[in-house]
Amino acid sequence: MKYDVIGIGLGPANLGLAALLQESTDKKTLFLEMKDTFSWHPGLLLEDTTLQVPFMADLVTMANPKSEYSFLNYLKETGKLFLFFSYNEFQIPRIEYNAYLSWVSSQLKNIRFNSYVKNVELQEEGYVVTIVDLVTNTEKTFYSEHVVLGTGQRPNTPVTLQEHWKNQIFPALQYAFKRDDLMELNHISVVGSGQSAAEIFLDLLNHQKNHEFTVEWITRSPALRELETTKFRLEMFTPEYVQYFEKLPYEKRQKGLSYFYQLRNGINPVTLDEIYRKLYHRSLVENEVKASIRLHTELMSIDDGYSLNLKHLEEEHTYSIDTDAVVLATGLEPNIPDWFYHNFEHLIEWESSQHFKINKNYSLSFKKPTAYNFFVLTDLDHSHGTASTNLKLSVFRNQLIINAITNEEIFKIEKNTSLQTFSSLNYRSLEPTL
Ligand SMILES: Cc1cc2nc3c(=O)[nH]c(=O)nc-3n(C[C@H](O)[C@H](O)[C@H](O)COP(=O)(O)OP(=O)(O)OC[C@H]3O[C@@H](n4cnc5c(N)ncnc54)[C@H](O)[C@@H]3O)c2cc1C
Repeated sequence: MKYDVIGIGLGPANLGLAALLQESTDKKTLFLEMKDTFSWHPGLLLEDTTLQVPFMADLVTMANPKSEYSFLNYLKETGKLFLFFSYNEFQIPRIEYNAYLSWVSSQLKNIRFNSYVKNVELQEEGYVVTIVDLVTNTEKTFYSEHVVLGTGQRPNTPVTLQEHWKNQIFPALQYAFKRDDLMELNHISVVGSGQSAAEIFLDLLNHQKNHEFTVEWITRSPALRELETTKFRLEMFTPEYVQYFEKLPYEKRQKGLSYFYQLRNGINPVTLDEIYRKLYHRSLVENEVKASIRLHTELMSIDDGYSLNLKHLEEEHTYSIDTDAVVLATGLEPNIPDWFYHNFEHLIEWESSQHFKINKNYSLSFKKPTAYNFFVLTDLDHSHGTASTNLKLSVFRNQLIINAITNEEIFKIEKNTSLQTFSSLNYRSLEPTL
């Protein structure tokens, strides 16, 4: 059998696409995921952490608020709607978001777990997708008109540090699995400048009371940066801004990206306040606060065992500290499989040596036009901007993809999505709405 669409990887991006395709089209679809069941960053599903986008950025609502796969319908079906009504907050717990996603995945018929995609090739009749079935350890082949790469991100650890990955030196995405072991140690270091580093530092502080360990937060930042959350800034996460950004020349887009980096990568002020509160209270009751935050500090290398070579970036002073464990919250990078470069590098257009060209509808631009689309849901910053992979815009992206696949306007794309005007070329005056 030939599928219309095969999705590779099943995080929120492809899960939303799977749900919308099943609900709104009669397309034959298959979504392949290597894990044995749905889970969303399980190593960072910590208590008290929340999603950084409102619950309306669920898998479907922004495309179809009447969808049976909405977050509100999940609450209704599982008997939690009244509790959520009283909770009265837009930012839902990450644990709850994961439960919602798992619930949706259990409703869909077009998902195959334990399926590691080891190769995709474009042939005369479309795509040939080869998987390893991780239960039987056998290979299987599927055929499809279109494919959608949704393999997400992986830890971005400097090469000099990767070689030290071992038992107690590991990326933040594994934190929850390692936490119990960490509690047995004397000294734990958390390296990084973003939300994950802050959450792990706070989580360790929360668990510190009954334990003797010391916790250090090592960050290059000269000051802990808050996530920008003003309403005007949030408009950079709208379809209108993405559509403006993707039309700019490549060089202008690169320049724009560094400006908007902070919009995406700061730390939630609630987390920062909680850390400060905790440290302040500890400073009053304990002789020694067994925690520190080293600003301006780069982890240069790790010597045998767990000796960290650090550099103060302003004072240019290098020194070492001994630790028992290092959690590397040094960010994420797009997870593009090796077969992609091997099989597609020469077939597609590139904007630079590192950045492939992506069309407005998130398909790759082939040198020789083909009827078979290869859509990409990761590594989009250079083409559609920092906001493009944000969960808030995931549904918008999926709407464009479904319209392209069906060659119909299955989903009407909202036009006026911002109160600000980004482009002088398509200036529109704000008309009174009353
Ligand atoms: C802790 C954490 C919290 C976050 N919170 C937010 C937030 O609040 N708001 C926001 O906008 N963004 C957030 N992000 C950013 C994050 O990128 C998105 O939340 C989201 O997970 C991206 O979805 P995705 O579907 O593109 O990729 P992922 O969720 O990474 O899913 C990719 C999937 O592909 C599978 N896969 C990979 N390779 C293969 C293969 N070869 N074969 C088969 N399967 C494969 C993986 O197993 C995985 O399940 C957060 C990230 C983290 C780590």
